[in-house]
Amino acid sequence: MNPIGVFGGTFDPIHYGHLRTAYELLRKLRLPEVRFLPCGTPPHREEPVADAQQRLAMVQMATAGQPGFIVDDRELHRAGPSYSVDTLVDLRAEYPSRSLCLIVGMDAFLGLPKWYQWRQVLELSHIVVAHRPGWRAPDLGPLGELLMDRGTGTGEDLHEARAGSIFIHAVTQLEISSTGLRTLIAEGGDPRFLMPDGVRDVIEKSGCYRRPRETDTAT
Ligand code: ATP
Repeated sequence: MNPIGVFGGTFDPIHYGHLRTAYELLRKLRLPEVRFLPCGTPPHREEPVADAQQRLAMVQMATAGQPGFIVDDRELHRAGPSYSVDTLVDLRAEYPSRSLCLIVGMDAFLGLPKWYQWRQVLELSHIVVAHRPGWRAPDLGPLGELLMDRGTGTGEDLHEARAGSIFIHAVTQLEISSTGLRTLIAEGGDPRFLMPDGVRDVIEKSGCYRRPRETDTAT
């Protein structure tokens, strides 16, 4: 079934927490590829700080040279909120016979019932949940039920069917967040060693997370 890892995010900015997660899952699940999809307009949160082109440039820099890492900018060309289900419908039409594995962190998985048409997600793809520091798998409510029904401990299931299973996997815990990085940079800190140097260069050159000086905002 030649599974495709589908890793969507705001990537505002992309960091080693994202990259290490994608790499470990690529290896663990023997995925021929992981696609990074920067989202255009995130449906469940405020607008990103860096613009779409800056976030795309950062994702390109971060993934360059890693076999199996692919950048897919389709969500940036779509008007309106970037719903994951629309992306999966698109990918399913393009790759009718391949397994799709939607990669999410545990925090994102816990919000799944709030996603647009969330029950359709498992009709279109598997869900691979990467554990993040401080989050626990739910055992109650709609997600608890879903895990009882669709959870699997066998990575092979993701190769044998195109969609429908949930696989939870612990990845090396790197407590890095984009929010923390934006704050660090706005306060004049250096994100070195938390993200690839190429990403840091894009941030430095564009000044996208620099806090505006009072003189810049004065009327
Ligand atoms: P923010 O702090 O702005 O909310 P973020 O760091 O969580 O951003 P996103 O682009 O929103 O980054 O995340 C994309 C995906 O990556 C989500 O599924 C999220 O759970 C996962 N993710 C983010 N940070 C990490 C991390 N440190 N380790 C593993 N997964 C992560």
